[in-house]
Amino acid sequence: MKNYILLVFALLALATAAKVNYTGHKVIRVTPETKEQLEFLRDWESSSEIDFWLLPSSAGRFADIRVSPETYAHVAAKLADMKMSHTVHIADVGELERQEQQNMAQRIAMFNGEKAIDVENYHTYEEVMAYLADLANTNPLVTTKVGGTSEEGRDIVQAIISSDLSANKPVHFFDCNIHAREWITGATCVWIIDQITTGYGSDPEITSLVDLYDWKFVPIANPDGYAYTWSTDRNWRKNRLVNNGSTCVGVDANRNFPIGFAGSGSSSDPCSGTYHGIAAFSEREASALRDLIAADRGRVKTAISMHSYSQMFLSPYGYTTDLPVEYPEMFRAMEIAVTALTSTYGTPYTYGNTAVTIYIASGDTTDHYYESEGVVHSYTIELRDSGTYGFQLPPDQIVPTAIETWNGFKAMINAI
Ligand SMILES: [Zn+2]
Repeated sequence: MKNYILLVFALLALATAAKVNYTGHKVIRVTPETKEQLEFLRDWESSSEIDFWLLPSSAGRFADIRVSPETYAHVAAKLADMKMSHTVHIADVGELERQEQQNMAQRIAMFNGEKAIDVENYHTYEEVMAYLADLANTNPLVTTKVGGTSEEGRDIVQAIISSDLSANKPVHFFDCNIHAREWITGATCVWIIDQITTGYGSDPEITSLVDLYDWKFVPIANPDGYAYTWSTDRNWRKNRLVNNGSTCVGVDANRNFPIGFAGSGSSSDPCSGTYHGIAAFSEREASALRDLIAADRGRVKTAISMHSYSQMFLSPYGYTTDLPVEYPEMFRAMEIAVTALTSTYGTPYTYGNTAVTIYIASGDTTDHYYESEGVVHSYTIELRDSGTYGFQLPPDQIVPTAIETWNGFKAMINAI
């Protein structure tokens, strides 16, 4: 009996230790108005007492910060010291996560099993990989390629959709979910894969898009971080590298590319959410994307990095406010994409050069694809929403998010 009680206690301890509990965590919204306030927020970014959901960008633009119940009073006082007011934007992150679990479970109960997975729901890494393997086995358009393997041994898989691989057609290249908690990004890529593979031969528009181009998607570019958001911490962003000499885990793979590496908008502190790592391409996720896009050098027509949230279409550069020579062409393409996207359901989007429109972000994918690979149409898209749900976007928004994004994308490729 005694052993049994001990076992129950041990299991309870394990269950509570197993998952980060966000009950009572708030997301607060702060708008810096002066340069000093902006600098203060940026310096605070490395601290583990707060977690930026939306990084501080420029004076007059809000930042979103997740705060635990234990640190809330302290954080509010610090902001007040800097003469910054805040509003509570999400009252209970734990409640959002419970709702998300419930919504996903409801969808699972409704799923008719017609496809390998319900593409209108969120899925684990294993489920997405099983879906891609099934597609490769059953659909002659689809092959998969392993771009690399994560620290914990998970494959970084690219799905290739092509009606004739030997034709070396122009390529549309997508990376998704390099930031682990941005679940809508992987879900949107899976939905687009499904749309293309089921529409070929019946939908004339899709048939022509596959006849003209090869389509390449890495639906989960950060498998370890993504698996960790399911098992342990729903709001994890980075990969899961154990950093030498630090108790803090993880590198932001989207700061680990060489263009402007270690510059502003990235952190040298392993505890920061934007830690750039010890050297460019030190991370397996970054080197996998480097190798995958380099394999198609000279053929990549568009390279898209999917992120969330804040509803923005962003072009190079991220590392400097200087504008690329092709910026007028990039701006024209973004304008066409955003017009088509917004006209679908009225979702407002802003667009422009990354460093000017949001913030300087050094060492990111989009600058690498443009500067090192010569892809003029290289963009970061920040998907829904504008902060009501943040990263816990309800599954019933997967389809509308994917449809509007796909409409924007199709309009853009027809115009470039
Ligand atoms: Zn992101």
